[in-house]
Amino acid sequence: MKHWIILLVGTGLVLSCSNNKPTVAAAPEVAAPAVDHMALLSAQGADAVLWQSAAAETHRLYQQGYELARIRLAENMRRSDKRPAAVIVDIDETVLDNSPYQVNAIRQGRTFDQAEWKVWTDKATAKASPGAIEFLKHAAQQGCEVFYISNRDIRERASTIKNLNDLGFPFADEGHLLLMDGTSDKTERRARVASTHRIVLLVGDQLRDFDERFKDRSVDHGKTLVNAMADTLRQYFILLPNAMYGTYRDAIQGKGTDAEKYARMQAWFELNGY
Ligand SMILES: [Mg+2]
Repeated sequence: MKHWIILLVGTGLVLSCSNNKPTVAAAPEVAAPAVDHMALLSAQGADAVLWQSAAAETHRLYQQGYELARIRLAENMRRSDKRPAAVIVDIDETVLDNSPYQVNAIRQGRTFDQAEWKVWTDKATAKASPGAIEFLKHAAQQGCEVFYISNRDIRERASTIKNLNDLGFPFADEGHLLLMDGTSDKTERRARVASTHRIVLLVGDQLRDFDERFKDRSVDHGKTLVNAMADTLRQYFILLPNAMYGTYRDAIQGKGTDAEKYARMQAWFELNGY
């Protein structure tokens, strides 16, 4: 009886012959390598993080936004009202620059993580956004109180006040800091300020920092609503640039696992690729 075996290196095939009748054994099943969706999504954000943290263009856009804020503040302060005037600003990517946190996340191939975010905010070392301190000091000199309405967690209160105070921001105290306590919708917090003050201007990096209706991106990604509210936006809201995260991306990627977010993003590309 004649037996022989040939191993085909690299093919996974094993040919064996017995009595001159060759048979092909099935290759052992090898599991496909798991796709690391977190790393894929993280890498997807690299350009945005570079743009936010390194681009002179972004630096200038912030300055430009705060220059326009002075013009609008002067116009809106002319309208008299007995209530004290107030300016409302968001915090992250509006008056504080968190791009170092984002750079680190990309470096490690990670997406947003609440625990890691708190480690960053606990340091209280974020730098001020270009033009922010100068504008808010100017607003204070013009007789405006400043309220910081942010979706940072209430557990980040002390470190946030410290960070703002260390940088010299005006009104950086508990009474002027309205953090997220349950909902990311800022409508109620804005109304609380409006119950005692005349809001003369709002500044943020998200349209939702002005009006919660901008959460809805179902019609033309929200651009139709921007056009419909153009007059109000022009007079009362200063929008600053942030490509790193926000409603624009959440509306496409949705909630869930990184794999689900990645799949929705791919589906969006497919749908809009014409
Ligand atoms: Mg923000």
